[in-house]
Amino acid sequence: MGEAVSTPAGDLAAADFPPPRTPGACEECLKEGTRWVELRECQACGHVGCCDSSPRQHATKHFHEAGHPVMLSVCPARRGRGVRPRVGGELGIPDISMP
Ligand SMILES: [Zn+2]
Ligand SMILES: [Zn+2]
Repeated sequence: MGEAVSTPAGDLAAADFPPPRTPGACEECLKEGTRWVELRECQACGHVGCCDSSPRQHATKHFHEAGHPVMLSVCPARRGRGVRPRVGGELGIPDISMP
């Protein structure tokens, strides 16, 4: 009976990770004045960068520069206000005309 080593899955305490350095914002985008789409938080150092959907991809850049592989996706706190993507609708029905 030597089952001492076991890693509990799904029992990660948030206290083990450093707090985000720039909560709710991409650190580099704040400096450069650019915009981001979604954020990823580095669980190794607390760096917050924008994901691959963003034009600058600072999270990926941070991963390459710092070598920190642990990134957590951060959902932007979006409320149902503002622009929302609209596909189709009453207008804009594609009119396929035969040549
Ligand atoms: Zn960014
Ligand atoms: Zn990091």
